[in-house]
Amino acid sequence: LVREKPGSNFHFFSPDILTTWKNTFNLEFSLRKALKGNQFELHYQPQKDIKSGNIVGCEALLRWKHPDKGYIPPDHFIPLAEKNGMMLELGEWVLREACRQNKKWHSTGTYRGLIGVNLSARQLHQPELAEKVKEILEETGLSAEYLELEITESATISQNNEVLNSLRQLRELGVHVSIDDFGTGYSSLKYLSIFPISKLKIDKLFMKQEVQHNQAIVKSIITMSHSMEMKVIAEGVETEEQLVFLEKENCDEVQGYYFYKPLPLQEASELFLQAQ
Ligand code: C2E
Ligand code: MG
Ligand code: MG
Ligand code: MG
Repeated sequence: LVREKPGSNFHFFSPDILTTWKNTFNLEFSLRKALKGNQFELHYQPQKDIKSGNIVGCEALLRWKHPDKGYIPPDHFIPLAEKNGMMLELGEWVLREACRQNKKWHSTGTYRGLIGVNLSARQLHQPELAEKVKEILEETGLSAEYLELEITESATISQNNEVLNSLRQLRELGVHVSIDDFGTGYSSLKYLSIFPISKLKIDKLFMKQEVQHNQAIVKSIITMSHSMEMKVIAEGVETEEQLVFLEKENCDEVQGYYFYKPLPLQEASELFLQAQ
């Protein structure tokens, strides 16, 4: 059961159908059809600067609007697309669409912040990643400083020179790179000092205050980010209590249901206009 936006219908989809897809290789076919048939869309979740309260960024989140099954969340098809090789194509669509939309917002004065785009592991390990990103920025006219690529920690990243090269090239272009779901992956501390990272996104897992030590972990991540000249954003902020704590600890930015859910294009545009 997935509830996409407040007040809208509930969308049902059956995980069984997804299992069938996986087993019969039909998913690849369906994904291709979906890409051709414009069944993918991006929703946008605003990010706030804690001090000013201004919306300074938004994260583009992929949605598959299936004609029969309604919205299918990314966790249900991205891992499969990653396996069958579709993810490169899909990821490129996301990147282009996000840059195009952000450029449009900027040109019309609707919004002046950055857009966060999630990169899959495959995309990150693509040797021509920086080249691709450069092409898309040129094509859409978005200036690099308004794009932030979110990567997740994985065991292979820290030992991979190709990834390091890509990240350095991206940094040279002026693109920001953040680490998503920070604190849940591998070897984070080792490569933080090597990789050109501009922001850490604290995983929403650590917002659970009732779990012992979570607040201590959040505090340490914030302190460490700042001493390494990185910004830090908390994901999954759902309560005022969490916000107050993050404010007290000098966290830079927040993102979560307490402020906004990921919004469909129209709603995001309206919000941005009205928030100015
Ligand atoms: P993520 O990048 O960590 O994105 C944040 C997820 O947390 C989103 O789930 C968002 O809807 C959800 N979220 C935001 N605020 C809250 C909150 O306050 N509480 C809770 N419980 N959840 C919150 P979503 O949209 O279902 O995306 C799930 C994951 O799928 C993303 O996690 C990301 O890893 C992946 N994903 C989404 N879009 C893309 C994409 O275009 N490309 C790639 N490679 N991965 C994507
Ligand atoms: Mg993300
Ligand atoms: Mg995350
Ligand atoms: Mg994630």
